[in-house]
Amino acid sequence: MNRKVVCFAFLGILVAAGLAAGLYYYYVVLPSAPAVQILNFMRSADQVELVYRHEFWSGNDGHMHEEKQIITDRAAIEELVSDIELKPKMMSECRHLQSMVFRRGHEKMDVSICDYCFDVYFGHAVERFHMPPKLYSRFMKYSAAYEKETGRKMTLGFEPAP
Ligand SMILES: [Zn+2]
Repeated sequence: MNRKVVCFAFLGILVAAGLAAGLYYYYVVLPSAPAVQILNFMRSADQVELVYRHEFWSGNDGHMHEEKQIITDRAAIEELVSDIELKPKMMSECRHLQSMVFRRGHEKMDVSICDYCFDVYFGHAVERFHMPPKLYSRFMKYSAAYEKETGRKMTLGFEPAP
């Protein structure tokens, strides 16, 4: 075997290894990343619940009022979650009153949200992301329509009891 052949063989092995690593990343690592799994689940959900909570305070006593809007229309769900990205972030100290629940068959994914956070509770795991701005503005559109329809204030959270 001369040097040229050895060189080509080595190059061949390098290319094959690179290709294998690329395929492994594309087909195994990437689809198992939490953000990808979560987005896939959101896109294939057959029901989404938008949960609005309102907290009333009187002295040191408070009570929570909760209502939810349920979306089962396929096109509406697709529109709600289309064209968004989930970028990981650290835990933050803010307190959330709003949430979203995604359901597919018997599976359920709870997401605690604010204009800044998108905290996903899926089984026993918690994954924290930045709230995708497009998703939050769509959520706010739904809540504004819901408030108009019901005449009840849902999204602002904390206020003294009447
Ligand atoms: Zn938050």
